[in-house]
Amino acid sequence: MSVQRTLRRATTCAGIGLHSGSKVTLSLRPAPADFGIRFRRADMGGLEVPATADHVGGINYATGLTRDAVKVDTVEHLLAALVSLGIDNAVVELNSPEVPIMDGSAAPFIYLIQEAGVKTQAAPRRYIKVLRPMSLSRGDKRIALYPSDHFKVTYSIAYDHPLLREQSRTLRLSESVFVDEIAPARTFTFLKEVEQLRQRGLALGGSLENAIVIGETGVLNNALRFTDEFVRHKILDAIGDLALLGHPVVGHLVAHRGGHGLHTAFAAQVMAEKDAWTLVEGAAVSAPQAAGSLAAVPLEAE
Ligand SMILES: [Zn+2]
Repeated sequence: MSVQRTLRRATTCAGIGLHSGSKVTLSLRPAPADFGIRFRRADMGGLEVPATADHVGGINYATGLTRDAVKVDTVEHLLAALVSLGIDNAVVELNSPEVPIMDGSAAPFIYLIQEAGVKTQAAPRRYIKVLRPMSLSRGDKRIALYPSDHFKVTYSIAYDHPLLREQSRTLRLSESVFVDEIAPARTFTFLKEVEQLRQRGLALGGSLENAIVIGETGVLNNALRFTDEFVRHKILDAIGDLALLGHPVVGHLVAHRGGHGLHTAFAAQVMAEKDAWTLVEGAAVSAPQAAGSLAAVPLEAE
C-alpha cells in the first residue's frame, strides 16, 4: 500500500524571484500526515497559505497563491518537484513573496528534496481517480482529464515563431520519468516579450541563467537541454499547477496551448466536479511505485 510521505529533515536554498528580482531564502520542512503542502511567510510572522486550488490568485506568467494578506508567487516548479517525488506533506518557508527561480527548471528542487531525504508516514496516501472526462476550453486553448490507470500527460504547444512552431509529447509519469525527462526543462520566453514584461514590472530577475530566451534566429542561451525542452517545460508547469488539487491524480491530462491561467482554472473546475472523480487509497492504484532515480534517497519509516 502507498502511504503518505514527508521530508526526513529540513533543508534550505537561496536564490532570486524571477518576476520580483528579490533575494529569497527557501526552507523545506517536514510536516505531519494530512497536513498537505503549505507556504509559510517567515517575514510575515509565519502566516501560511495552503497550496490548494481555492487559494489561487495573481496569475501573471506564473502561479500565485493568496490568503488574506499572505501572497506567494511562482509556486509551480517547486510544487511539481514535491508532488512528483511523492512528498504529500511539507512546509515551504520563504522570507520574501516569491519562490526562487533557481535555473528556471525543477532540477534544483529535486536535489534539495533528495538532500533532505524522504520519510514515510503511517497514513495512507489518497489519489484523485478520474471517473469521467472533464475539460475546459478558452478559444483554441484546451485542457482535459480522462480516466486512465496511470498518471499520464499529453501536451502540445504551437507558436507563430520560425524557431518554435509545434511540439507535442505524451509521457506516463513516475518519479524517475519526472526526474530524468521533465524536471531539467527550463522556463522560456521570446526576446521580443522580455522588454514588455519588464515594462510591466515582471521578469525583473530574469536572465540567461534562469530562462531560455528565444531570439529571431536562435536561442540566446548556448544550448538546449532537450530538443523539445519547451513542451517538456509546459508539462512541468501543468504538473505543478495540478498539484493544487491536493492529491496525486490517476488519469490522463491532455492540454493544448495551455498556461497557468488555464491550468489553475481547470484545477478549480476539477475540485467542483466532485462526481467526476473519487478519492482512492494507494492500494487501488496500479501505477508503479518503484523509483529508479530515487534509489539514493534515504527512506526511513516513521
Ligand atoms: Zn514554468
